[in-house]
Amino acid sequence: MSSEEVAQLDEFSEDWQAQAVCKDEHEVFNATFDICDTKRREKSREQYVIERQIENAAKAICRRCVVRVACLDYAIDNEEKFGVWGGMNTEERTEYAKQAQSKKRNYM
Ligand code: SF4
Repeated sequence: MSSEEVAQLDEFSEDWQAQAVCKDEHEVFNATFDICDTKRREKSREQYVIERQIENAAKAICRRCVVRVACLDYAIDNEEKFGVWGGMNTEERTEYAKQAQSKKRNYM
């Protein structure tokens, strides 16, 4: 599938979740929902490393996913607070959304 076809699929598919690569990877993605970055300062170094490993495993799966853009848009639109969506963790999505808003404002 070409990158143009992937982009079109992401943009127009109403059933993107049916095409999600992670639908058979519940263990990894469910583990990402237990990670709470707002309490990072309270975590031990060992816990922090384990959580990054879990996130990286999920992100590696996302890199193979053809509906990554739709997934990321969904998570941002619905203000998903936990987990990896569209290859980004909560902090990354927050930063991405801020930058997108800033670009939109500068464009107007
Ligand atoms: S981008 Fe990642 S979280 Fe989103 S549907 Fe694909 S595999 Fe799942």
